Amino acid sequence: MTSSLDGQWFTEVFDSHGSAFSLKVSEKLLDVQSPYQHLEVYATETFGNLMVLDGCVMLTDRDNFLYHEMIAHPALFTHADPRRVVIIGGGDCGTLKEVLRHPGVEKVTQIDIDEEVTKAAERFFPALVEANHDPRAELLFADGVKWVDDTPDESIDVLIIDSTDPVGPAEGLFKTDFLKRCHRILKPGGVMVQQSESPLYHSGSIIRELRRDMQEAGFDSVATLPFPQPVYPSGWWSVTLAGKNADVGAFREQDAACNEMPLDYYTPEAHRGALVLPPFMRRAFAE
Ligand code: SAM
Repeated sequence: MTSSLDGQWFTEVFDSHGSAFSLKVSEKLLDVQSPYQHLEVYATETFGNLMVLDGCVMLTDRDNFLYHEMIAHPALFTHADPRRVVIIGGGDCGTLKEVLRHPGVEKVTQIDIDEEVTKAAERFFPALVEANHDPRAELLFADGVKWVDDTPDESIDVLIIDSTDPVGPAEGLFKTDFLKRCHRILKPGGVMVQQSESPLYHSGSIIRELRRDMQEAGFDSVATLPFPQPVYPSGWWSVTLAGKNADVGAFREQDAACNEMPLDYYTPEAHRGALVLPPFMRRAFAE
C-alpha cells in the first residue's frame, strides 16, 4: 500500500487491486515517526480528521463508528456473560469506548504497541477517548503477542484483535501460533474477534486463511461478518469471530434488542443480516 499527497488530495493506493481511495484534505495536523510506524493526521474537508499509519487509512471522524461498533458489539452480544475483555491494538480507543458501553463488563485491558497512536487520538479524536477514564479501563503499551504469551490460561471472556493490516508490527497477530495462544487464554465459552480485511479483495485469501487458522487453533465455530467501511480498500470490511465452546453463529438477540446504547450502525437486525454471507463469500470459504 502506498499513499501520496497531490495538492489537496490524500490518496491511498491499493496497488495489488488496481484501485485507490482519495480524500480532500485541508491541513496536515501531525507527522510522527514512532519506533513502530509512520503516523499522520490530516483535517479533511468532509470526513473530519483522518488518521493514517504507514500510508494506510486507519479511521476518520465521519465513518469510524461502523468499524468500532461492528468489532465490539457482535462479539459482546455473542458471549453469554462478558466480564473480562481484552483489546489487542485499538490504540485510537474507539473499540474500548464501545466495549465500555456494556454494563456487565468488569474490566477491559487495551494493549497497543504504540503509545503515539493513543496520544494522537487524545489530541485529534476526542470523541474516541471519552471513556478512557472509566475505572474499568486499563491502557497498556506493549506488544500484544508477548502480552498474550504472559497471560494465564482461561482468564479472558472476549478477546478483540483490533490491529493494523497483517504486515509490519501486526504480522504476528495473524499467525496460527498466535491464534493458538489466544485460544489458550480464553475461558470456555470465550469469544475472539479479529478485523479481517476486505470481503471483496480478501475472501479467497486472508479471510479464508484466518478462518482455517482459527479452526486449526482449536476454535469450534467461526463466523465472518461483512459491513460497509467507505474509507477502507473496496469500501467494504469484515470482522471474523471465533468461539471456544461457543457458537458464534448465534447471539443474545433479546439483549441486543433491549440495549439502550446510543449506537449508529449496530442493531440485532444488522448483526443477523451480517451472519448471512453472500454466495461469493460462502463459495470462497468452501474452497
Ligand atoms: N481500525 C483500524 C484498521 O483496521 O485499520 C485499526 C485501528 S488501530 C489504530 C490498529 C493498532 O494496532 C495500531 O494502533 C497499532 O499500533 C496496533 N498494533 C499493531 N501491531 C500490534 C501489536 N503487535 N501489538 C499491539 N498493537 C499492535
